[in-house]
Order: sequence, then C-alpha cells, then structure tokens
Amino acid sequence: MKKIKLHWQILIAFVLAVLYGIFLKDYVHYVSWMGDLCLRALMMVIVPLILSSIISGMTNIGSGENLGRIGLKTMLYYLSTSIFAILTGLVLVNLIQPGVGADLGFAKEVEGLAEARESFGETLLYIIPKNIFESFSQGNMLSVIFFAIIFGFFITRVPDKHRIFLTDLANSVFEVMMKLTMFVIRFAPLLVFGIVAQKVAEIPDLVDTFLRLLTYMLAVLMGLLLHSTITLPLIVKVIGRVSPLKHFKAMSTPLLTAFSTSSSNATLPLTMEAVENNSGVSNKITSFTLPLGATVNMDGTALYECVAAMFIAQAYGVELSFIQQIVVVFTALLASIGAAGIPMAGLVMMTVILSSVGLPLEGVGLILAVDRILDMCRTTVNVWSDSCGAVVIARTEGEKLKIE
Ligand code: ASP
Repeated sequence: MKKIKLHWQILIAFVLAVLYGIFLKDYVHYVSWMGDLCLRALMMVIVPLILSSIISGMTNIGSGENLGRIGLKTMLYYLSTSIFAILTGLVLVNLIQPGVGADLGFAKEVEGLAEARESFGETLLYIIPKNIFESFSQGNMLSVIFFAIIFGFFITRVPDKHRIFLTDLANSVFEVMMKLTMFVIRFAPLLVFGIVAQKVAEIPDLVDTFLRLLTYMLAVLMGLLLHSTITLPLIVKVIGRVSPLKHFKAMSTPLLTAFSTSSSNATLPLTMEAVENNSGVSNKITSFTLPLGATVNMDGTALYECVAAMFIAQAYGVELSFIQQIVVVFTALLASIGAAGIPMAGLVMMTVILSSVGLPLEGVGLILAVDRILDMCRTTVNVWSDSCGAVVIARTEGEKLKIE
C-alpha cells in the first residue's frame, strides 16, 4: 500500500466505495464508522493546527525593520487578492450553480441549520469570543482564528526575551501539527471509503451526482484560471509596472513544483530562489513576504473554500441569502489564512466553513474524490499570488527588477 501514492489510494478507495454502495447497500453500516472515525481525527487536529499556523505566520511580521510600511503593504495585498479570488469564485458558483437541484438523498432536514441561519447576522459579532477556551472546546473556528491573529500580532510587540521564546514555541508546535495532520491525512482513503459508500447507498441518481461533481470542479478551475491569468497579472502590470509574462516565465520551476507537490511550504525554498534570482526582488523583501505568504496568503484555497462551501450548500438544498453568502466569503477568507501550506489542508479547513454555516460535515465526503486535482491547481495559484505580491511590494519600494 505504501508504494501507491496517496491520491491514487484515495481514487481507488472512491471507486471501491461506489461499488460497495451500489452492490452492498444494506451493509454500509459495516464501513460507515471509518468515515466517522476519520472525521473525528480531522476535527482533533483543527484547533491546534490553526492556532499554531496563524501564530507562527504572524510572528514573521515582527522581525525588526519589516514592521510598519512593508508589513502593512503585504497584509493589504494578501487580504485584497484573497477577497478578489473569493468573489470570483462566488460569482462563478452562483452563475454555474453546480449543486442546485441535485437529488443527493440529502433531503432530510439538516440538523442545526435553522439555528445557524438565525445567527448568521450575529456571526460577525461572535467572532470576538467571551471566553477563548469555550471557543477552543466548542470548535468555534472564527473566534479561534481571530484570537490567533491578534495573539500572533502582539507576540511581535513584546520584549525580545518573550518574543523569541513564543515565536520558537509557535514554530515548533506548528511543525509538530503539520506532521500530525499529514499523518491523519494518510487515512483519507478510509475516510473516502466510509463516507462515499454510505452516500452512494443513499443517493438516488449517481450519474447526475457525478456530472454535478464535474461541474463543481469546472467552476473551481475556471475561477482559478481567471484569478491567475487576469486579476493577478493586472495587479503586477498596473501597480508593479513590470511584465507579468516575464515574471511568469521566471517562476516556472516553483509553479510546476507547487503543482506536483500540492504544498506551498514544500515549494517555498524554490519560490524564494526564483523570485530573488530570476525576477530580481531583494532578499529583504522575499525573506519577509514569501514565508508569511506561504502560510497566510492562499488565493487559490480561498476561492476553492468559497465554491466548495456554496456547492455543498446547494447540494443540501440550502438557499443562502446575500448576507449569508457574505458570511461564507468572510469565513473562506479566514479559512484560507488558517490553512497550512501542506497537501489537502484546504479540505481540512472545509470543516470549519461547514460548521460555521451549520452544514453537516459529511459534505466533505462529496468533494473529497476530486480534491487532489483541485489541490494541485489551487496550490499553484497560491504560490503564484505570493510571488506576484513580492514583486508588487518590491516595486512600490522602488526596487529595480529583472522582469521590467
Ligand atoms: N495545498 C495547499 C497549499 O499548500 C493548501 C490547500 O490545501 O488548499 O498551498
């Protein structure tokens, strides 16, 4: 089993699960526990993973001269491009509506949804927790993310003795949590098998579901394409006043690596090398913006989170109002900030969005089968956006680049 790559294992598990669900309909309860078990394991890693990921990312802001102007510009670029990406996804998913009218056998009342709907308006208010430990224990992710961001920020504002200790601690915990998450992710084939077998047994029209899944994939891919070939190049051209095409060529190795590894973190050394040596950005800017970007700036992931959440809502027959969609946008933004730069981190974060809008976590099972290819593509967009950010910031700082 070890020799077969994880994404192939997932695909094989998916095919077997579909067969099991079709032919052994009455015996799904023998395998559905696997899905539940793996979902529990995913939930287990989420709070410490997000906490350490964000805190360790935020502490990067603090290294001396980076505070201030460059830090602010970087955050502004990261936030605005992620929001552009999410809005692109939101428009596409509303136009294409891949999940609307799906007969997935999910018609049964979604538990807790009514409650969640009522509180949509108050979601923003509840981001500030009354008691952070309550948020940890209840898995109230928006508050956890909010707390992590400000905690990480204020680590950069305390005397060196404490700052260095806490930064090291956050980085070490993050390393462990990434390893642990990768370990849990290795069980993804079991998760797929457990959930998909159960769903297939319930879904009345398999062909229709399959087509909808393809349409959903297409919506994500189209969004990623638009964002990476129009929005980001325009920013590089208009604000950076350099050639996006030349920069793209300079970035070919890290982009291909991102595509094949599905990990921004694993690609980081190559990204830094290419942005510095090929595009000509100074080390001062790359060493600050890129490591931070690899953890907090994930345009591709943000877009994907939004489309996937909307698709799952559509498939469950939940009509989301304008305000509710704003909440999805906001949650997708926070989820992309909280996602670690490792394979399938975005999928792990889907549980955050689903729980914050009150949708059942099994929704993840619906999109798992096609996640690998989307992961490859969104990671490429994540790395591309980080590199464009470094270029734009370098230019606004008056640097002369090799890609003019
Ligand atoms: N794999 C992505 C990355 O490393 C994160 C994600 O799963 O969306 O950038």
